This record gives sequence, C-alpha cells and structure tokens, in this order.
Amino acid sequence: MTHVPHEAAHLHARHQAVLPSWLSLYYERPLELTHGEGRHVWDAEGNRYLDFFGGILTTMTAHALPEVTKAVSEQAGRILHTSTLYLSRPMVELAERIAALSGIPDARVFFTTSGTEANDTALLLATTHRRSNQILAMRNSYHGRSFSTVGITGNQSWSPTSLSPLQTLYVHGGVRSRGPYAELGDREFIAACVADLEDMLQQTAGGVAALIAEPVQGVGGFTAPPDGLYAAFREVLARHDILWISDEVQTGWGRTGDHFWGWQAHAENGPPDLLTFAKGIGNGMSVGGVVARAEVMNSLTANSISTFGGSPVTMAAGLANLNHLLEHDLQGNARRVGGLLIERLRAVAAGLDIVREVRGRGLMIGLELVRPGTDEPSPEAASLVLEAARERGLLIGKGGQGGASLRIAPPMSLTVAEAEEGAGLLAEALRTAQAVLA
Ligand code: PLP
Repeated sequence: MTHVPHEAAHLHARHQAVLPSWLSLYYERPLELTHGEGRHVWDAEGNRYLDFFGGILTTMTAHALPEVTKAVSEQAGRILHTSTLYLSRPMVELAERIAALSGIPDARVFFTTSGTEANDTALLLATTHRRSNQILAMRNSYHGRSFSTVGITGNQSWSPTSLSPLQTLYVHGGVRSRGPYAELGDREFIAACVADLEDMLQQTAGGVAALIAEPVQGVGGFTAPPDGLYAAFREVLARHDILWISDEVQTGWGRTGDHFWGWQAHAENGPPDLLTFAKGIGNGMSVGGVVARAEVMNSLTANSISTFGGSPVTMAAGLANLNHLLEHDLQGNARRVGGLLIERLRAVAAGLDIVREVRGRGLMIGLELVRPGTDEPSPEAASLVLEAARERGLLIGKGGQGGASLRIAPPMSLTVAEAEEGAGLLAEALRTAQAVLA
C-alpha cells in the first residue's frame, strides 16, 4: 500500500476551498477512504479500519459485496439510461419485492435517490391526501436536508431554518432517558406521551395530515421508545384521521434485529400508512423510496417523474443486496451479534464515568457520553472518542443532541470476532477520552 499523507492534506485544502462550510466532517484531519472489503475500509494513507458505522448505515451487508459489484457492472454494461419514462426489469422487480415485504396492504412503491427525497415525497403525498399542511413530528427527530424535511426535523442542530412551508407540532416520545418523563416505567411513559398527543390535537385548528416518526431515532443518537408507543399513537391518529409515516431510512431491513421494519415493534394497530426507506438498501448506491397504500400514493393528480430515482443500475444493486441479506439471514445476525455487542459494551461502560447509557436494538447501538462526574452530555467526549478510535483503527459515528452520543451501526454481516475486537478498541478509546477529561 502506498503512503500518501501529503496528498491527503492537499485534498483537505482543496475541499475547504470549494465546498460549503456547513458540510459535517467527523475528524480534525479528514479521512479519505479509498476502498473497502467486508467490514473493513482503507484510507489514502494505507491504514485499515474496522467500520463500525457501515459507511453511514449505507453499507448494509458488506463492503464490496461481490454480488452487488457483479450486478452493478453487468447492468452498467447493458444500459445506463435512467428515468421513470421507461420501464426496467430491475425496478419493477425491486418494487414488487419491497411492496410484499412492507406489510402495507395494496402497496405502491415510488423510488427516489435519497432519504430526504423519500420523506419529502411522503410529506407531499400525506398533505395532498389530507388537504392539510399540519404535520406532527417527534422531538429530537431527523428527516433530511430539503426545505420541507429540515422544517419538520426536531433536532435543532440539524434544522437550519425556521421558515418551514409546513406547520409542525413536536410530540414527546422519541427520547426517553432525559426530559420530563425520564423516571416513568414503560406503560406510564406511553400513557404520558399519548396524553400529550391528545392535548396537542385539542389545540390544533383543523385537520393534521400526518405523524412522521423514526421507530428508533438515528441522528438523534439511536434512542428507541418502549415497544408499543406508536401502536398507542396509531389508535389516536386513526380517531383523528391522521396518517402515520414510518421513516425507516435507518431502521429498515432487519437492522434492529427483532423486526424487519422498525414499525413492527409497534404493530398492534396495524402497519403505517406510508413507509420511507433509503441508506442501506443500495449498499452504497443511491436508492430511496416511499411505500404507501394505493389510495394515498395515487393522491397526486398532476404529472410527476424522477429522472434518477429507480435507475436500473441502482435497482440491480438493491436487488442483489436484498437477496444476499435474506439468503444469509442478516437480520438474525444483527439480533445475535448486536445483542452480544450491547452486552459487551454495557460491561465496558459499567467501569467508566464517561458513559451514561448504552442503548439500542440489534446493530443500532448508541452510547450517551457525559462529562465525568456529572450528568451533563459531552459532545467534547464524543469527539475525543472518535479521534482515539480512529487512531486504533476503528470508525464509529456520533449524534444525539449536540453530538454527545456515539453511534454504532456496522454492516449487518459483522462477525462475533469483529464485534469483540471493535468493543475492545472502543473500550480503549473511551478510557483515553475519560483520562483527558478527568
Ligand atoms: N431520515 C432519516 C431517519 C435519516 O437518518 C436520514 C439521514 O441520515 C434521512 C432521512 C435523510 O436521508 P439522506 O441523507 O439520504 O437524504
């Protein structure tokens, strides 16, 4: 492997000269990735890393998965055209598969190129269907970077404008461990959130179109409400004729271990009306989309098109990736290896003041960090841990309010040995950060 640190520094200077100041970078000295294999990636200096963030939950199965590479190159060799004006076999096939998996009756699928665009489309459909621009969203949520999706995003550090085209009301329930209901048990917590929702609806004039929620908040720091919260919400929503949009951009495809979709932990009163997906399904290729009942999907009467959504190359990648996921039961792997990893990290955290909480589902694991000896969330601690982990050959993500939580979401094929290795490296990085802050 050639070592080119000088080139990497040069690229950083070029990046600063042409890209916006608000693009997030994790590291002091930016990382330039050149290739990957399995659960590992390499940088331009030849260093190898265990990827505990799966790209950004985009590498769902494994880096450089041979079936995906083959499907992409074969499709690229046949035809690279795109646009929904023409049909392609991979697009129709992937739509059929996703419709069948979604759990939504009489489902229709529309493909987009990102999670943002998927949620934007879901908002367009819901507001058109219900003829209302009022939306319910969860506190601390994240739904994308377009004008409409930043407008409903509850996590203030990712919501750069207050000039939203939608009227949004923020509901309690996405985060449990802090806030007014922190001390409540599951049932009491759900009852308190439902009462809060009912109160809010009393005060709204006219109809609300939809509630949009991530079953496990992603950017918010991998926080999961108790199972059944959204089922209880659903009962209230149904009474008020409000649609439920489940944003499965991070939680879909079995990553949460126990369920294929995040909404299935809240399934008692039926599936959501709309479901959005993106990130992992293309294994790095840009595949996103919306699934909705035909009645809702067909609400739009004006013409619409996506030039790049559903392009045959990305659809071929999605199909190959989905087949691999199902054939190798990666959901089961996420449950088993994720369960083990959570246990291992809880044992590590028990001996450290810097970790307030280890939480998560399957291979979506969050660690909230605090300034040692306090209950104060510490974004500084998270940054120190990220840097220390990088030095040891481990990549992780961060998030939560102000960025004080670590996020772990490796490719779903993570092995037990890799989970143990990563937990060991993370333990060292946590100890290093704690020593700096003590
Ligand atoms: N929804 C959720 C839950 C997300 O986590 C994200 C991205 O992190 C998005 C939507 C936006 O997706 P994208 O970055 O593909 O536009």
